[in-house]
Amino acid sequence: MLSYTAPSTVDEAVRLLAGASGAAKVLAGGTDLLVQLRSGRTKPDLIVDTKRIPGIAGIREQDGAFVIGAATSGAVIGECEALKDAWPGVVEAANLIGSTQIQGRASLAGNLCNASPAADSVPALIAARATCVIAGANGRREVPVESIVTGPGRTSLGPDEFVLEFHLPKRPPRSADAYLRFIPRTEMDIAVVGAAVSLTLDPGGVCTDARIVLGAVAPTAVLVPEGAAALIGRKLDETAVAGLDKAARGACKPIDDKRGTIEYRTKVAGVLARRAATIAYQRAGERR
Ligand SMILES: Cc1cc2nc3c(=O)[nH]c(=O)nc-3n(C[C@H](O)[C@H](O)[C@H](O)COP(=O)(O)OP(=O)(O)OC[C@H]3O[C@@H](n4cnc5c(N)ncnc54)[C@H](O)[C@@H]3O)c2cc1C
Repeated sequence: MLSYTAPSTVDEAVRLLAGASGAAKVLAGGTDLLVQLRSGRTKPDLIVDTKRIPGIAGIREQDGAFVIGAATSGAVIGECEALKDAWPGVVEAANLIGSTQIQGRASLAGNLCNASPAADSVPALIAARATCVIAGANGRREVPVESIVTGPGRTSLGPDEFVLEFHLPKRPPRSADAYLRFIPRTEMDIAVVGAAVSLTLDPGGVCTDARIVLGAVAPTAVLVPEGAAALIGRKLDETAVAGLDKAARGACKPIDDKRGTIEYRTKVAGVLARRAATIAYQRAGERR
């Protein structure tokens, strides 16, 4: 029989997860988990709803860095002007998830820990060098977001662990990010390709730092260091953009499915990486 519990502290949640006799699932917004329960794809014995834990939903700014609670909804993220200003790409990625109704529930932790290769917020969080704080029976640990998903539907979290919050670092001046995805319909579909780019420029518009991450083109989100290398030390000129396009295409290991062939996804990855880089570059240039 399925049991439901909604602990009000982190310690209680960890105790419940660690002590579960069968399979336990953490619940945030439920927009993935409830669909999977109804379809019978997942059959947990225990659901641990995290939403009553103080601080698990909400955004705090600390000296220019941001802490986003694991269960914070896309709607709340989209209303945080300071976050939008510092990390427009992270916010636009989170706000692409689903519809208005889904936005009222869907969280970053759920998007990450559902471990879909096409999750929209994950490439943007990785490009942002976001970390997450994980609570478990052995205390808390902070790890890069890219260390969480190990394959489709699989994470590196232990059975007693859950994500407590995300940390986004303080940005240097003239930094910005962008996220673009391609879907076959205008909305409410899964990314054929997603591309996140985060850049820092010097006062002359030369790229001093870059992170490029692709989604939906491999079992997990893919960091593209060769794409970053093509941009760093240059303005966003033709050579840089061509190098980025080539690196993005080279980093793809996509599947063929009804949304796109391998060849198509590979080509779109290059195009989206270029376009996201152009948006991030423009945004960074407008910032002081
Ligand atoms: C109609 C519809 C449209 C959608 N559109 C998109 C889309 O465009 N892009 C996209 O990326 N996704 C989309 N999704 C999928 C889903 O909405 C997102 O993945 C969402 O971010 C999940 O968040 P949640 O809080 O609802 O997660 P939940 O359903 O609560 O949880 C999802 C998974 O994460 C685990 N989990 C939740 N919180 C934690 C935690 N704190 N620590 C550890 N594990 C945790 C759960 O155990 C579960 O396995 C869509 C879903 C629907 C139903």
